[in-house]
Amino acid sequence: MKTIVETQLLSERSRALSESETLAMTKKARELAAQGHKVISLSVGEPDFQTPQHIKDAAKKAIDDGFTFYSPVPGYPELRQAIAEKLTKENNLDFTAENIVVSTGAKQSIANVLLSVVDPGDEVIIFAPYWVSYVEMVKLAEGTSVIVTGTIDNDFKVTAAQVEAAITPNTKAILFSSPCNPTGSVFTKAELTAIADVVARHERIIVIADEIYEYINFGDKHFSIGSIAAIKDRVVTVNGFSKGYAMTGWRVGYIGATKAIAAACDKLQGQVTSGTCSIAQKAAYAAITGPNDAAKEMSAAYLRRRDLVIGLLKEIPNLKVNVPQGAFYGFPDVSAYLGKSFNGVVIKTAGDLAMYLLNEGKVAAVGGDAFGAPNCLRISFAASDENLVEACRRIKDCLAKLQ
Ligand code: PMP
Ligand code: GLU
Repeated sequence: MKTIVETQLLSERSRALSESETLAMTKKARELAAQGHKVISLSVGEPDFQTPQHIKDAAKKAIDDGFTFYSPVPGYPELRQAIAEKLTKENNLDFTAENIVVSTGAKQSIANVLLSVVDPGDEVIIFAPYWVSYVEMVKLAEGTSVIVTGTIDNDFKVTAAQVEAAITPNTKAILFSSPCNPTGSVFTKAELTAIADVVARHERIIVIADEIYEYINFGDKHFSIGSIAAIKDRVVTVNGFSKGYAMTGWRVGYIGATKAIAAACDKLQGQVTSGTCSIAQKAAYAAITGPNDAAKEMSAAYLRRRDLVIGLLKEIPNLKVNVPQGAFYGFPDVSAYLGKSFNGVVIKTAGDLAMYLLNEGKVAAVGGDAFGAPNCLRISFAASDENLVEACRRIKDCLAKLQ
């Protein structure tokens, strides 16, 4: 006789974990497309470009050259060395290969770091709007997320004074992305220096700087908070190949950190996944040591598309539209439409609105709820001009139908 339901066999940890909303919306969009609907998917944040040819060729060569065995857990030495050189040269970070751990995407890199530094009860200050997975990863590490919110009037950026006010004796880490997913905001050198001044006064706090969108930056040269001398030994810099080199499926990310944190991540990864795919690492090596022209061309295309999408969104009545300075997301405030209804069904949240746009307009976007910004909607502009124009037209029509 069966007395328990299957889900009761799951751990509390698993039950408490939310599904990634970016991936969930993308799954729904794929399901609708499979049923024959013409869905425009602007939900997942991923380049629509192919990986550059010389990187693909390096992967093919790696297979032919027999790189089919386990790699060292933190990555091939030459890849770690090349990453250390990149971080030293471009980001002023002063690392050697021993400071680098290569992982299966920056997603795993961030999880490794949080699991390596956060104890139960430790607080992690997360800047909102934030990337969906941060809060869930902190949960997995049994830490407590302390959300500090940047407002649209300040370009969605959290200030040093806000950080100072959020610090408690339990604060262990500060986590944010710049350029930011989902807002596209980019912290300036002056803003990061002010935050670093606060961190410098609290010697137990680690900064986890997610710089995965570094190469998709429409403004001033990228600045890494880890280059600030007063705190450089307490900054973990996260980066990867997914966005800048259009390599999302290859799954290669990395950290630059103190040797102690790098060794802890190496140990953890050695028990959970081992070194990332040998072939993907060889491709990543070709990417980081090869010409950067493709990354520059893609960034120029995103800038052009940003102007296109932001222009179109501004034409939609009652949206509050910010201009992203990096990454590839529009993040309009849609609060004027929340509380309205369609066919008698009230659209209460931005998540409801995203579902309505998907079902009614066949456009997949992501509700801001998942990013800690319940008034906003995330729209990726890593898509063709044609799809972006059509998607914005559909969004405009759908919003006009709400009463
Ligand atoms: N950080 C941010 C801010 C992201 O948008 C992404 C994209 N998924 C990641 C980390 C993880 O990237 P990946 O695992 O593909 O390297
Ligand atoms: N970073 C992307 C996004 O935010 C990829 C999906 C994910 O890993 O969450 O949409």
